[in-house]
Amino acid sequence: MGTGAGKKREHLIKPVLHRQYPTASYGQGVFLYDEQGKAYLDASSGAVTASIGHGVQDIIDAMAEQARKVSFVYRSQFTSEPAEQLAQKLSELAPGRDYWTFFVNSGSEATETAMKVAIQHWQEQGRHGKNRVISRRMSYHGITMGALSMSGHVLRRRRFVPLLADYPVVAPAYCYRCPFGRTYPECGLACADDLETAIRRIGAEHIAAFIAEPIVGAAGGAVTPPNDYYRRIKEICERHEILFIADEVMTGIARTGAMFGMEHWGVEPDVIALGKGMSAGYTPVAATMVKDRVMEPILQGSRVVMSGHTYSANPQSAAVSLAVLDYIERHQLVQAAEVQGRKLLERLNRLADKCEIIGDVRGKGLLLALELVADRESKLPFPAAKGVTSLVIDKAFEKGLLIYPAAGGVDGAGDAVIIAPPLTISDEELELLMRLLEDTLQEVMREIQGQGS
Ligand code: PMP
Repeated sequence: MGTGAGKKREHLIKPVLHRQYPTASYGQGVFLYDEQGKAYLDASSGAVTASIGHGVQDIIDAMAEQARKVSFVYRSQFTSEPAEQLAQKLSELAPGRDYWTFFVNSGSEATETAMKVAIQHWQEQGRHGKNRVISRRMSYHGITMGALSMSGHVLRRRRFVPLLADYPVVAPAYCYRCPFGRTYPECGLACADDLETAIRRIGAEHIAAFIAEPIVGAAGGAVTPPNDYYRRIKEICERHEILFIADEVMTGIARTGAMFGMEHWGVEPDVIALGKGMSAGYTPVAATMVKDRVMEPILQGSRVVMSGHTYSANPQSAAVSLAVLDYIERHQLVQAAEVQGRKLLERLNRLADKCEIIGDVRGKGLLLALELVADRESKLPFPAAKGVTSLVIDKAFEKGLLIYPAAGGVDGAGDAVIIAPPLTISDEELELLMRLLEDTLQEVMREIQGQGS
C-alpha cells in the first residue's frame, strides 16, 4: 500500500484511496490478467457479476451490432426493439410470469424503484399511509439513500443514519446464529413470524412492502433460509396486504442454480429487483420487475411510474442483456450452476475438515460462502480488529485468486467470504480454485496462530 507521495498525482477515486491496485489488462473465461501478465482466477465473478466469464465473443458481437444501429434513444421519445424484447423475455423467465419491467442502471436503483413502485401501488388506491418498507437486519439492498434506508448493513449505513428513512427491520433467517437461539425446525420459523409481530406493532396500514434477498449476499455471506421460510413470509404479506419485494440483484439470472432465487421455494414475488448477472458485467443495466396485479392500479390511475433515469431502457444495454440471457440458455448455465455448485459445496465441506477456522459452509448453486470463526465449537467470531476477512481476501489476491468479502455474524460483527465463480467454470478450474483457497486458508491460520488468537 503506497502513500502516493512523490508519485504522479492521482485523479481516480478508488475504494481505498492511495492503495495500489493492479491495472486490469484483459479477461478470458474465468481468468483476469493484469498489466504484468499475472493471472487471477475470478472466483467471485467480480462482485458476483461476471457470471458467463470474461471476453465472450457472442456478447462482443451483439454489442457491436447494436452500436452500429443505435446505442441510445431517450425513453420519453422512443421505445426500441431490444428494450421491448428484454422486458418480454424477463417476464417469460420469471416465477409465475406476467411482469412489467422498468429498466435502470444499478442494483441500488432497482431496489429503490421497487420501493417507489410499491408505495405508488397503494397511493393509486388512496391508501397514502402505506409508505414504509420493512427489511431485515443483516441485509444489503444498495447504496443510494432509499436503498440504504432498507439495508441492514451497519458499516455502509453508519455515516448517513440521520439522513435515512426510519424504516423498520426484522430478524434475518440466519440458522447458523439463530437470533432466537433456536434450531430449525423446532423453532417453528420464529424469524418469519418476527415479520408478523412487526406488522402488528406498526400497523399494516403504514406498510407498503417487505423486502428480502432470497439468499443474503454482502451483508451475511450466502445466508440461506430454511425451506419453508419464504412461503411463510409470502403468506404473512398476503394476509396483511403488504407487497413482497424479492431483491434478486445477486441471486437472479442463474446464479443459484435456478433462473431466479425464489424458484427454490416456489414463491412468486410481487416485485423483483435484478442487476449484476442480467448483463454479466458487459454493461451497466438493472431492472425492477412488477407483477401485473401490482401494476393494475397504476394503469387504471395516473398511468405513470414516477421514476426514470437518462439511461433507462437504452437499446445498447438491452441488446447486451438479451445476448447474455441467450448465452445462458444456449449453454444451459442454470444447470451448470447447479451441477458445479454441488461439486464446489462438497469440496468446501471437505476443506472445512482440514481448516478449523471454517465455522459454516453454505449457499446454493454457485453462490457459496464460508463463515470464519475463532472457535468452531462455540462459534466465537474473531475480534473485528484482527480483520480476518481482509487477511483472507488479500492473501488470496496475492496468490491470484479473487474472492468476495462479506460481513458475517450478526450486525456485521463477523467474518465471511463469498465464493461465486462464473457459471462456466470447468472441473479443472474448480480444482485450481480449491488448491489456491486451501493454500490461502492454511497460511492465514498459521499467521493467526503465530499472533496468538
Ligand atoms: N442488492 C443486492 C442484493 C446486492 O448484492 C447489491 C450489490 N452488492 C445491490 C442491491 C446494489 O447493487 P449495485 O451495487 O449495482 O447498486
